[in-house]
This record gives sequence, C-alpha cells and structure tokens, in this order.
Amino acid sequence: MSTKSMYERASELLPPVANRVTKLGIVKGEGAYLWDENGKKYLDFGSGIGVTNVGHNHPYVIEKAKEQMDSLVHGCHNVVYYPSYLDLAEKIVHLMDGDYKVYFSNSGAEAVEGTIKLAKRVSNRPGIISFKRSFHGRTMGATSITASNSHYRKQYEGLMPSVYYAEYPYTFRSNLSEEDETNRCITYLNEIFNYLIAPDQVAAIIMEPVQGEGGYIVPPKSFVTQLRDICDQHGIFLIFDEVQTGFGRTGRMFAWEHFGVKPDIFSVAKGIANGFPLSAVIAKKDIMDQWPAGAHGGTFGGNPVACAASLAVIELLESGLIKNAEEMGQYFMERLNELKRSFPVVADVRGLGLMVGVEFLKDDGTPDSQIVSLIRESALEKGLLLLPCGVNKNVIRFIPPTIITKSEIDTSIQILTESLKTVIEKV
Ligand code: PMP
Repeated sequence: MSTKSMYERASELLPPVANRVTKLGIVKGEGAYLWDENGKKYLDFGSGIGVTNVGHNHPYVIEKAKEQMDSLVHGCHNVVYYPSYLDLAEKIVHLMDGDYKVYFSNSGAEAVEGTIKLAKRVSNRPGIISFKRSFHGRTMGATSITASNSHYRKQYEGLMPSVYYAEYPYTFRSNLSEEDETNRCITYLNEIFNYLIAPDQVAAIIMEPVQGEGGYIVPPKSFVTQLRDICDQHGIFLIFDEVQTGFGRTGRMFAWEHFGVKPDIFSVAKGIANGFPLSAVIAKKDIMDQWPAGAHGGTFGGNPVACAASLAVIELLESGLIKNAEEMGQYFMERLNELKRSFPVVADVRGLGLMVGVEFLKDDGTPDSQIVSLIRESALEKGLLLLPCGVNKNVIRFIPPTIITKSEIDTSIQILTESLKTVIEKV
C-alpha cells in the first residue's frame, strides 16, 4: 500500500489534463455522500458532473447490474443482439411515445458525434449551427461545435468546417425581457442565414435545452418554439444535446418536456446509467431508418451491464424520483433566493429542477470567479462538494442527486452561508 495521498500519486502518474477541479481522492460513494481516503464524508452536490442522478451506488441499480454480470458482460451490438440492449431501447422509445429509434454508445461526446453524423448523412447538407457558450464534448467533432472556451479549441483548430455559432438567450446578462432577448437571438440567426450560410445548406441546429458548462442558462420557451418553427420551415434537423439535462436532472425525464418542443434528434449520456458508461443517439424513426449499416458505431456501445443499470435508473426515476427532483429543485431555489437577498454578490439564481446555477458578480457588475473558487474551497473543507461552470467561471452549479432530501438541502444552504460569510470577510 502506498503511503502517499492519492493527490500525490496522481501528480506523479497522471498528466495535468486528468483533474483540475479538486484534490480529493475518494474511496466510497453512497446516496448523496462521498468518503475520502481519510474517512472524511462529503455531501456531493456535483454528482460526478451530473451523472449519479439516483445517488452513488444505488442498491437497486447495483443489484440489476450484478444480475446482468452473472450472465453476460459484453456482446458487441455490431455482432449480436442481447436482451438488456433491446429492453432499454424499447423503454426509451416508449418514453418518446413510439416514433423514435435509439442507438447506444459510451460517452456524451460520442453520442454528440453520432447526432452530427446522422444529421449530415441524412440531410446531405454540410452546415451545422450551434450556440455561443455551448459545450458538447471533447472529441474533434464535438470540439468543433463547442464555443464556451477558446482553451478547449486551442491548437486543435482546423476543426470541422461549416460550423456557425448563433446567440443563445441570456436575459440575466442582456438585461432584456424574454421577448426582446428571443427576438435579438432570432435576428442573429437570420443574419447567419443571410450572410454566412443559406438555410438549405444547414443540416442541423444543435442546442442544449439548458446551457450547462456555459453557465446553467435557461432559455425562454418562446425561443425554443421559434427555433422549432424555423427548422421545420427550412428542413433543418433540430438536435438537442441532453447529455447534462436528461434523465430526471431538470425535474422531467428530458428537458425538452419543459418547452413542449420535441427534437428530431437528441443525445443523452451522463445520468442514463448512473455512472456506468453509456450514451445514446435518439432520433425520429424516419431519420434513423436512413442511417445505413456501418455508417457509425463502435465496439463497446450499449454495454449489457450499463443497459441493465439504465433500465433500473429509469424505473427509479419514474417511481417518484423525478417528482422529488422537481419539488426539491423548487425548495432549493427558494432557499438560494433567500441567500440572494442577504448577499449582494449572489447576483442570479436560476435553473430547472435540480440543475441549478448561482451567478456571482462583483460590486461593479463584472463576473466574480475568485469568490466562486474561494466559496468552493471553503465549502469543501466544511464537507460540501460544489462544481463551477460558466464561461467566466463565476457560476456555481448545484446538481445533487434526485434522492436529495429537504434536510440535506438545508445542510448545503447552511454550509454555503457560512462559506459566504468567511469568504466575504477575507476578501
Ligand atoms: N454535451 C454536454 C451538454 C455536456 O454537458 C457534456 C459533458 N459535460 C458533453 C456533451 C460531453 O460528455 P462526455 O464528457 O461524456 O463526453
């Protein structure tokens, strides 16, 4: 056994790209909690970046995964069919009311790649429109449509061509009404069509229904419905990237339900199997049926154990946890709004369900990333794990599991309040 801490070992063994968020080495997870190598317990409001949506090591998910491991661990969907893959596909198609098909892969970025390839292949058009501040993953195609941080693209340029970046509504920053902000962004999109790429050359518009890494930004419903109309008008596929918003995170199974707008194609990952690597491209049947054999795929996509775990996750979400996410999300936002009234640095509280962001600004109205890192540091010391987001890293995102209770939310608010007080005194 090494006498070094995990952080020391990681510093020797791993490249800098491996972890940049905490120095924690953890050995156990259960429900909303993590334990580090020294036995210290943390309330985890990061959920492995929005993955463990039904809580760490949920006993029912583990039971179903173990059951599957006893019979089959790998099948390769390119070669054979197996029950958990088909059962999960059937379940997801049922969730979408039937007129969709599903194709499994392993990670969010891989599913995003799939959505772009599907759209290009079927439309036979080159263009993709994504949004400023978007994040879609770190493979080359996903990096090409990501516009939340130039660092992610640096020295990888020469990326996928024919990508254009539209404006995503952000009423808190623009200080406009929802209607005016929607109009501003739709006008910008029309300018892309007029000046840069004609709509009949655009395969797809891809959007996160709630911008995640870009700052937990919820668009007005009118923007999403207008986008749907524009796509229909020009035969453009509307893709939603639901990698971070899917599987109960926003108090619905999928975030598109909040807007009443169904995508033609969408990607899911993260919460789909509560930590087992799994993702999917979900698309309307008539689109999927035009994706020929061999045009996309991978050896590990739709692992039998991950699919079995996912079926258990969906069962749990449907039997009360989605409802809890909605209710606890509302309660959490109320409590955070109390903080906003007491601390001027807490500038905006926003979100859907248990996908909640708090934006911090300095007195002069500029983004305050320093306070975010100090608060996170102080909260971690007090046993609460929090993650940042936002293009200026001045947003704390709160993504507890859907099993979270009122008293755990109260604990988090108490720690946050104490951390705010300590940090404000210090700076
Ligand atoms: N899309 C979105 C919206 C995401 O939030 C992320 C991950 N943060 C990804 C894609 C990439 O997922 P993965 O890290 O599993 O490749």
